[in-house]
Amino acid sequence: MNTWGASTYGDPCRECGFDWATPFDEAVLLVARLPVSFGRLLAGASGDERRPDLAWSVGAYVSHVADNLRIWAERLVGVVDGGPLEVAGYDENELASARRYDTIPLQAAQWSLGRSVEDWLHAVKNSSRSSGIIVHPARGTLSLADVVLSNAHDALHHLRDIETTLAGVTRQLTSEVHRDPDARRTRSVRGGEPPGYATSRRSVTRVVWRVQRPQFSPHASWTSVTMRRWQRFRTSSRRDLSYYDGAVSTTLTH
Ligand SMILES: [Zn+2]
Repeated sequence: MNTWGASTYGDPCRECGFDWATPFDEAVLLVARLPVSFGRLLAGASGDERRPDLAWSVGAYVSHVADNLRIWAERLVGVVDGGPLEVAGYDENELASARRYDTIPLQAAQWSLGRSVEDWLHAVKNSSRSSGIIVHPARGTLSLADVVLSNAHDALHHLRDIETTLAGVTRQLTSEVHRDPDARRTRSVRGGEPPGYATSRRSVTRVVWRVQRPQFSPHASWTSVTMRRWQRFRTSSRRDLSYYDGAVSTTLTH
């Protein structure tokens, strides 16, 4: 088994907890479920959300996962019928820059992800499970199982990046309310009660309740519901609530 992933990220992964001993079929299933997993998590998201310590937006991560699966599927297909085992690596940041991930609408990125997963599953199904099949310049010799584990980890790792980014947006919303409860009222008086305000206030209440819990469940439908409401709130009242958008974006970029 190739040890690049475990030595680079830790076993289990220090950030996302991925277990490098995950069985082959389970890892394939995890990838097959990605469109649903991402879909649930991204319900109500705009794709522009960012975590201060991450270079990419939520939408950019979706595009990366889609591109990465597509590229690895192509590599697998390339060696199936006796093609050269050596593949060329790619710089994920250069690809992100060339593809202008920041301009790709979230729903388009999700569409690409769905297509990539289909292609990837097809490529894996038609590949042999026998020994070393691909030689990667940075990772060395990779069996099909190594490729599957590596690809599954990349996707799940970034799924967690997205999850924590979106959770950070809701937490920030909560902290704003706690820190300066009068600010909204003051600003509201200045700008009038904007449309969607009541909806947001209900969401805030639920955010507070959730964030106070010690565990933040990864794929809670609650998160999606709240993010959907929050997004609707932001979209419907963007002009009236520019101060609110400003507060969030300032925090997310500091
Ligand atoms: Zn990870």
